[in-house]
Amino acid sequence: MDRIPPVKNGSRIGRESASPEQDPRRGLPSVDRLMRDLVAVSAKTLPQWAIAEAARAALAEARRRVESSKPIGDLVAEALSGAHRLTRSHPTRVVNATGVVLHTNLGRSVLGDAAGEAVRAAAAHYSDLELALETGERGDRLADLETKLRLLSGAGAAVVANNCAAAVLLALDTFARGREVIVSRGELIEIGGSFRVPEILGRAGVRLVEVGTTNRTHARDYEAAITPATGLLLKVHRSNFEQRGFVAEVALEELVAIGKRRSVPVVEDLGSGTVVDLRARGFPAESFVPARLATGADVVCFSGDKLLGGPQAGIALGSREAVLAMRSNPLARALRVDKLTLAALDWLATALLDERYDEIPTLRMLLAGAAELEARAHALAARLAPVAPRGLRVSVEPSDAPVGGGSLPGFTLPSFAVALDGAPSASQLAHALRSASPAVLARTQDERLLLDVRTLLADDETHIASALGALRFS
Ligand SMILES: *Cc1c(COP(=O)(O)O)cnc(C)c1O
Repeated sequence: MDRIPPVKNGSRIGRESASPEQDPRRGLPSVDRLMRDLVAVSAKTLPQWAIAEAARAALAEARRRVESSKPIGDLVAEALSGAHRLTRSHPTRVVNATGVVLHTNLGRSVLGDAAGEAVRAAAAHYSDLELALETGERGDRLADLETKLRLLSGAGAAVVANNCAAAVLLALDTFARGREVIVSRGELIEIGGSFRVPEILGRAGVRLVEVGTTNRTHARDYEAAITPATGLLLKVHRSNFEQRGFVAEVALEELVAIGKRRSVPVVEDLGSGTVVDLRARGFPAESFVPARLATGADVVCFSGDKLLGGPQAGIALGSREAVLAMRSNPLARALRVDKLTLAALDWLATALLDERYDEIPTLRMLLAGAAELEARAHALAARLAPVAPRGLRVSVEPSDAPVGGGSLPGFTLPSFAVALDGAPSASQLAHALRSASPAVLARTQDERLLLDVRTLLADDETHIASALGALRFS
């Protein structure tokens, strides 16, 4: 006797099958009507193209909502904010008060004014990008940067691709196209933003040979898997997770020894690497690129915009023979970086050779000491307390933020933050600060908002004070 009850009028299904006269989509204004409203409320400050596109997008979204029986919000307000979003530049400046130095959503490394000036100069004028001024002949766009990277790392040669994923792809294609690549099962990782090691290998046209188990891989596992079809031994840094307990992995040194014995090249996808020795400061040893190269690995690939502190790029360093093979691969042309990236990297490499670490924002932030951070947090709190809306408590407390950028799993830097407490809710307060111009991004913890001073740049304190001063809780 159990029967599905008949669909009543007013239920979801009932409405979907209603006659056109009852179709709630008919209650929506026309694009023209919405555009006229937008022109009226924006006092003609917005360009026509932005108003038209924002009205079209807001109505399309409203129709989708009606179709799935969801409430529609204020159409004019939504379209207006859409039009404003289209007219400001993207990416637009924000204040990073999260304490996460390499925040992928916020653009990872900040280049700073001096590197920015080098980029601007390369963009605004013609340059000797591929010209030897002494001879008037064609020059190598990478030659000077390669020299500097060699001096910084001890590598025999360098090649630079668009990002670390591209550098790994180039290495796979160069050494193992149509052949087998051996990787530990414990290193078949996914990093945010759709970088999955097995998928990259698939795309590179190499065959993945998995060895070991999730938690334990031994030298003998690699040894047993090597055949005449093996093109490469690949080691991948786990980056954004840790393994603890009953675990074993084969160190790069040992993998290199196997590779030499069996005449198979060894490549490491390190992800986050630096040429500054931060090991004494407690940073994980494996991020120090010169030590990775000293193992004798043929190639080490790492990102330009993680611990290195530069622009998005994938830097591959290694033996002359191996890197020159990568450089002469036709794919290198398709993956190469542009002159703006080269200008930023060249500036960075020179600053690193000069040891002007203070001019490299990422390094300055990572190396800031506790006493300095505590003093800055107190100065910020003193500035915010008088302007904060009534009822909001402002205090200073110690804070712990990850370095970010999938860089160093489980590794946090002790810092200091200004805590905001007593708002209607932390998420409402976070939303209000995100709506400021520039937006202020903070960390939420236990219903409080933390403004970590480690990642604040010049003028950021002023922007935070005016964002907080403009807050009104209804
Ligand atoms: C971050 C990371 C990548 C990707 O680097 P991109 O420069 O963003 O392409 C690749 N491999 C590892 C191990 C990483 O940590």
